[in-house]
Amino acid sequence: MRPWALLALLLISAGHPAGAAEVRRGGLVVEYTDARDRAELNAVFLAWSGAVRDLRAIGLNVPATVRIEAAGSAAEFAARTGEPAGIAASTRGRVIRTQRLSALGARGLLPFTVRHEAFHTAQPAGLPRWLAEGLARTFSGEALNDPPAPTGLERVPDASLSARLLERDPARLTTAYHEATRRARQLVRTRGWRAVLGAAARP
Ligand SMILES: [Zn+2]
Repeated sequence: MRPWALLALLLISAGHPAGAAEVRRGGLVVEYTDARDRAELNAVFLAWSGAVRDLRAIGLNVPATVRIEAAGSAAEFAARTGEPAGIAASTRGRVIRTQRLSALGARGLLPFTVRHEAFHTAQPAGLPRWLAEGLARTFSGEALNDPPAPTGLERVPDASLSARLLERDPARLTTAYHEATRRARQLVRTRGWRAVLGAAARP
C-alpha cells in the first residue's frame, strides 16, 4: 500500500469524512466532501430522476432510498472502493460510490455515470457481470461513444469476458467493457429490454 492510500484510509476510517455535506431529494441522498461538488448537485438529481423514469419504462425500479457518496479525490475513491482510480463509480446494493462530482462533470461523465449506476441499483439479481455492465452502458448512453471497430474479443466466451472485466490494466479493461456492451446492445436490439431482462432474471 502506498503512503497516500494509507493516509486516505486513515481519513475515512472513522466512517464519514470530516466536513462531509449531505443533500436529500426524494429517495436520493448525495454526500460530498469537496465544496466544488455543490455546483454539480442539480445535474446529479436531474440525471437521477431521468434514469428512474427510463428504468420504470423497461420494467425496473430503483430501491426506495439510494445513497451516492462522492469521494473528495481519486485516491480516496480508490481507498474506499478498492477499484482502480480510473473507474468513475462503483455500486454495492443501495450505495453508489463515485469520484469527485466536479471531476466527473468536467470530463462530461456525470450524467452517464449517474444513469449507469442507477441501472446497477435496479438490475435483476443474478445477472452475469458481462451482461450487467453491457446493459448498464447501453442504458446510460455510454455505448453511443464506443468505437465502431471490432474489439478483437468477439470469440471470447461470455464467462471469460466477465473475468476480463476485473482486469486492472486500463486498456484491456476498456476493450472488455466495449465488447460486453456490443453483445448486450445486440441482445437489446433484437429482443428488446424486457425480454433480455426477463430471461436473465430466470434461475
Ligand atoms: Zn458498471
